[in-house]
Amino acid sequence: MKIIDRMLEDRIHISFEVFPPKTDATYEKVMEATEAIAGLKPSFISVTYGAGGGTSKNTVQIASHIQNDLGVDSIAHLTCVSSTREEVHRVLDDMKEKGIRNILALRGDIPTDTEFPIPGHYKYASELIEDIRRHGDFCIGAACYPEGHVESGHKTEDILNLKRKVDSGVDFLTTQMFFDNSILYNFLYRIREKGITVPVLPGIMPVTNGKQIARICQLSGTILPERFRAIVDRFGDDPKAMQQAGIAYATDQIIDLIANGIRNIHIYSMNKPEVASAILSNLSEIIK
Ligand SMILES: Cc1cc2nc3c(=O)[nH]c(=O)nc-3n(C[C@H](O)[C@H](O)[C@H](O)COP(=O)(O)OP(=O)(O)OC[C@H]3O[C@@H](n4cnc5c(N)ncnc54)[C@H](O)[C@@H]3O)c2cc1C
Repeated sequence: MKIIDRMLEDRIHISFEVFPPKTDATYEKVMEATEAIAGLKPSFISVTYGAGGGTSKNTVQIASHIQNDLGVDSIAHLTCVSSTREEVHRVLDDMKEKGIRNILALRGDIPTDTEFPIPGHYKYASELIEDIRRHGDFCIGAACYPEGHVESGHKTEDILNLKRKVDSGVDFLTTQMFFDNSILYNFLYRIREKGITVPVLPGIMPVTNGKQIARICQLSGTILPERFRAIVDRFGDDPKAMQQAGIAYATDQIIDLIANGIRNIHIYSMNKPEVASAILSNLSEIIK
């Protein structure tokens, strides 16, 4: 099923994310986690993609397994920053052959060790999106940044670039993680004002590793609210306590989103079925 059709239904949809193994040695472990997450019967599961293209085979393979063997819809991420158009077309053909109909189309982070942009290759996600549209009947999602993309000096400019991206053929947007819902509400107001009307899927990150998140937020420009910072300061050195607090914080964010009328929520479950399951159980009466 195309994810966009699901997102337009009048009910709450919770989706999860998995990332493919970086080496063959961890493939089985990732598959076990994926199967456990699929067993929770989310609305769909997204599968991330290595920007360098190194995990591309695994992304398509895992997305296909989720959809064709585990009976849960999947979205395969696809980045273009380090790929030629021919390489991308080959991945799209593979997706088509395996019946994958949903793609999250991304540029990927700019590589530091190779030339960018390579003349004739992709520079922005919008160019990839136009190419995917020409290549087949896919449902196409793209990324958005409620706090602005890290390369963009100006939020308004970032939103105008987002409008261009959406106009290139995007069906829905998924947000980068955020830890203060008022940032999302403000962003939604600003993009609607600029004529971006496609559904927006808020991405919620249940933080289970305090130290890691501080670094990720620094790189991505995500603000850590005081309430959240206090949790990381207090529990960051105790993995079990941090996980419990991270799940509670994410649950709180999700309940607030639902209370404010948001029907589709994506959880960055990071190959952790126990985290995905705990959140669903916290919401059992809310999303029944
Ligand atoms: C939901 C989500 C999922 C992700 N999944 C992955 C993944 O699986 N693998 C991975 O490697 N990375 C992933 N990323 C990270 C993403 O690849 C990076 O954030 C990357 O730096 C930007 O990708 P983009 O598709 O948003 O780029 P773009 O939309 O191309 O934007 C990149 C920058 O260029 C600017 N820009 C865009 N168009 C124009 C234009 N026409 N003129 C001037 N400036 C322009 C934008 O304002 C922005 O600053 C994900 C991010 C999110 C939010």
